[in-house]
Amino acid sequence: MSGLAEWDFLFTLSDHLISPPITMENVIIIGTGCAGYTAAVYVARANLNPLILSGNMPGGQLTTTTEVENFPGHPDGIMGPELMMRMQQQAEKFGARIAWANVDAVEKRADGNFLLKAGAETFEAKTVIVATGAAPRHLGLPGEKGLIGHGLTSCATCDGAFYRDVPVCVIGGGDSACEEADFLTRFASKVYLIHRRDELRASKIMAERALANPKIEPVWNSTVGEYLTDEKGEMRAVKLKNLVTGTESELEVACVFVAIGHVPNSGFLGDLVDKDKDGYILQTPGRTATKTSGLFAAGDVADHYYRQAITAAGQGCAAALEAERYLSGHA
Ligand code: NAP
Repeated sequence: MSGLAEWDFLFTLSDHLISPPITMENVIIIGTGCAGYTAAVYVARANLNPLILSGNMPGGQLTTTTEVENFPGHPDGIMGPELMMRMQQQAEKFGARIAWANVDAVEKRADGNFLLKAGAETFEAKTVIVATGAAPRHLGLPGEKGLIGHGLTSCATCDGAFYRDVPVCVIGGGDSACEEADFLTRFASKVYLIHRRDELRASKIMAERALANPKIEPVWNSTVGEYLTDEKGEMRAVKLKNLVTGTESELEVACVFVAIGHVPNSGFLGDLVDKDKDGYILQTPGRTATKTSGLFAAGDVADHYYRQAITAAGQGCAAALEAERYLSGHA
């Protein structure tokens, strides 16, 4: 891989987008991450002509990551955006159609079919597979929203190159935080890895790699209590609190990369599904079915435990098979 040229699909997805006619779909898949595209491959190969609604993050979370080393079949690793481009191509090859639409509500009608609303557009389907993934979590500090794009981000791949030869920080201690910190050392003069405990949650290999990188400096047992800006409103520092000593200090950074996990994109489903306390959709044990018949959930929107590309893909496959069987039973 070299440069962004090979990832053009991310920027030219609109070429693929269609204006779907108002018609009763067999299966609508909401989401274009690993779960959504895998479901689409299976549903399309079953001759059910799926429609995929892409949402506002085509390709899902892997489009914001760098090298994926643990997706089977890629012994030399594969860049996240390239993997998603290939999944998209595979789904389209079998006839899946993709439309840009951000679904804000789903209703189950009295006739058993589903009505999906996306702004002014509506879609109808006999079955729905929800594969909407999860969105990056933020700290909830004052002024946070306004700082996004002004020194606050959750995507090192997207924004890292803007911060050359300046200090930056990553907040979090999981695989995402380690991966982002590692990636950012290509650009930044220094990367502080701020974690609230004194031990990383990340897998051993990712944690060891990050801690061995001389440009990464861990800041243990610490939380960020405030973002500090310059006169132009750009990030200039964070206020740190050491949770062991109670000491407060300022750390100068030009950008803060937040990597503290994700929030599942399940809010638009209302009462059609049961959710756990964090908003993850509850599935029938061992299945992708939800409490609403004909509505299936797959991937990170329903999985707070594994949250891997390959487990999301596996659930996408399972949801497609269940949707297919549901349709056969209701033919
Ligand atoms: P995660 O594993 O849930 O880690 C979140 C981190 O943020 C934890 O260290 C947590 O601290 C910290 N955190 C949470 N809320 C916080 C708060 N309010 N303030 C400060 N810190 C907070 O999330 P993730 O790193 O995004 O990973 C999610 C999943 O994706 C995992 O299964 C991971 O293995 C996978 N993943 C894999 C790869 C890869 O293999 N290439 C890359 C990225 C992610 P505590 O540790 O104290 O709870």
